[in-house]
Amino acid sequence: MPVDLHHPVRATLDAVLDAARPDTSGEVASYIPELADVEPERLGIALVSTRGDVHDAGDSDVAFTIQSVSKPFVFALALDALGVDEVTKHVGLEPSGEPFNAISLEAASGRPLNPMINAGAIVTTSLIAGDTVEDKFGVIRSGLERFAGRDLLVDEDVFSSEARTGDRNRALAYLTKSAGTLAADVEVATTAYFRQCSLSVTARDLAIMAATLATGGVNPVSGERVISEDAARWTTAVMTSCGMYDESGHWMVHVGLPAKSGVGGGIVAVQPGQFGIGTFSPRLDARGNSVRGVAMLERLSAQYGLHMLAHR
Ligand code: GLN
Repeated sequence: MPVDLHHPVRATLDAVLDAARPDTSGEVASYIPELADVEPERLGIALVSTRGDVHDAGDSDVAFTIQSVSKPFVFALALDALGVDEVTKHVGLEPSGEPFNAISLEAASGRPLNPMINAGAIVTTSLIAGDTVEDKFGVIRSGLERFAGRDLLVDEDVFSSEARTGDRNRALAYLTKSAGTLAADVEVATTAYFRQCSLSVTARDLAIMAATLATGGVNPVSGERVISEDAARWTTAVMTSCGMYDESGHWMVHVGLPAKSGVGGGIVAVQPGQFGIGTFSPRLDARGNSVRGVAMLERLSAQYGLHMLAHR
């Protein structure tokens, strides 16, 4: 869809970008070696309404790896296929208050606390149909493509870099396997998870994916129903309580939108019934959330009263 440069939403997005641009704090992720090579100055934002209007500004078409922003969408696919009762036999729904890569499980059930931390996301990936990496990842890729409304490629360099160095995630997979909550072979679950995290997206893709949750499961640009309304609501509920890791409570007070961040520098935010937003800026704070992405969403929320619990 062609972008109208004079549209007022576009002017708002430009202003939000300009306000965030001078902040050079934070560091690009380097624990996955290939991620250290991204251009730290990149800055983009896109907003897609539930009617399918696309607005964007800055580097909204620059590709980066989706990383943990994939987690809610794969969770949504699992919920859509299996229902919430089956999925929650394997992974919980409670905020962990811990870093994304924490080595911890709920003591009584052996489940990861929620699907937005790595342990829970690997278990979620293990629940996706298929016995091999190819089968599982095929389902994940085509599902995420329907959320985005276009074909998505794997960044093979980031994938090999993470597969080579991802032993902490393998440890989490073994832990869940020994607790009986992982639903696949360790190597299959982690390899499919690493491929899922290495899918290449843009801020505009993320905004369309978020808008698909905002409509209750229909991609507003392609018109295709991707998941059920229940799966969309369950997913945004978990994003609300757990999407920003151990910053989720602060985020809910200061931004007030269901959201999810990734160490590639992306963030998605959802205003149910209204729009989805995608942001991209690679430098991260200590918790692994994009510094300027958080700043842009805080500003948008404060200036335009976007908090989902605001009195209207
Ligand atoms: N692929 C990354 C990992 O598993 C995703 C983490 C993230 O984006 N927070 O470590």
